Amino acid sequence: MVEPVRNEQQWPDTTVDSGEFTVSLPPLVEPAAELTVDEIRRYSRHLIIPDVGVEGQKRLKNARVLCVGAGGLGSPALMYLAAAGVGTLGIIDFDTVDESNLQRQIIHGQSDVGRPKAESAAASIREINPLVKVEIHNTALDRDNVREIFAQYDLIVDGTDNFATRYMVNDAAVLLGKPYVWGSIYRFDGQASVFWAEHGPCYRCLYPEPPPPGMVPSCAEGGVLGVLCASVGSIQVTEAIKLLTGIGEPLVGALTVYDALEMTYRKIKVRKDPACVLCGDNPTVTDLLEDYEDFCGAVSPEAEAAVVDATITARELKEWQDAGKDVFLVDVREPAEYEIVRIPGATLVPKGEIMSGEALAKFPQDRQIVLHCKTGVRSAEALAALKAAGFRDAVHVQGGVIAWVNQIDPSLPAY
Ligand SMILES: [Zn+2]
Repeated sequence: MVEPVRNEQQWPDTTVDSGEFTVSLPPLVEPAAELTVDEIRRYSRHLIIPDVGVEGQKRLKNARVLCVGAGGLGSPALMYLAAAGVGTLGIIDFDTVDESNLQRQIIHGQSDVGRPKAESAAASIREINPLVKVEIHNTALDRDNVREIFAQYDLIVDGTDNFATRYMVNDAAVLLGKPYVWGSIYRFDGQASVFWAEHGPCYRCLYPEPPPPGMVPSCAEGGVLGVLCASVGSIQVTEAIKLLTGIGEPLVGALTVYDALEMTYRKIKVRKDPACVLCGDNPTVTDLLEDYEDFCGAVSPEAEAAVVDATITARELKEWQDAGKDVFLVDVREPAEYEIVRIPGATLVPKGEIMSGEALAKFPQDRQIVLHCKTGVRSAEALAALKAAGFRDAVHVQGGVIAWVNQIDPSLPAY
């Protein structure tokens, strides 16, 4: 997902300006002793670039880079880091390859469906460049393992797709003094930056608070143009190579905002926030948080309260329908999603129309109202609004249409 893109004028004055970009940093990694004949042959197009040269290639050979997530951003990042000759690549991902990943996660192929992503990505890397050493972390990154894993690497590439992991990656990187290259994608928009508290701002300087729950949809909820992953992932690899070899001006203290429809890249200067709770003058966050999910909040407090004793399972909905109960089933997703898959008998009323109140007249007072969305997040928010409007007996379906597909009718497409 991408954070809400603001205009330059909307950034707080203290954080952002449009001044000169003159950051230049020494190489992050010492050069390896030598390149073999095979390596000289393979990397010759790098070696003849004066700014890279044998010295730069030796630094890449000695580098240890961790990619968090082998998904949309991780795919192009890992493939190009491998081809470039980064000596050791770490992959952390606990997920398995799903058919719906293949539209953008090009490190995986059709025959990898069902396979752990970290293993599938490692196999692709070996095919691209057998000289790269791959370290697989087939586990979920959490507060108990993040420090130990990050400590093994020079640089982190962040390809996470949720705010809880993103804040944890940032906090761990700052606490360990590691630089990390961040990227974010949503539909046609991308953003990228390098966060390194020793030399510039961290993610919390730019985004002190997570967005209100439900305000920023994930790519699973809102979609993403597949090729956007390559656009933003390649910026991340470029920045990683610049940091490792010490060439050019890294995106430290700067944010690149990419608009695929306009085909524009804007570069915005970002200042370190002296009041940052993590990397500011008087930090109050001095250790990893106990619970990042809790910090980011899956749903709003209103929605959390509304779903208590007002949540049914997909199976219960099916039983109600089969028993002939007078159910008014409402799908609160968007029309494009309704086109892809729907629960039989559902009426489409997008969440926005419920939240604004304009659709409330469509809801009957004398029937059992059941709301659902894709996974249960949006329907929880809509349920809170509906209950506040007086529909006290309304309920929502846990897990949404995805639960219906999984539990009731696997012949329907999950998306
Ligand atoms: Zn900070």
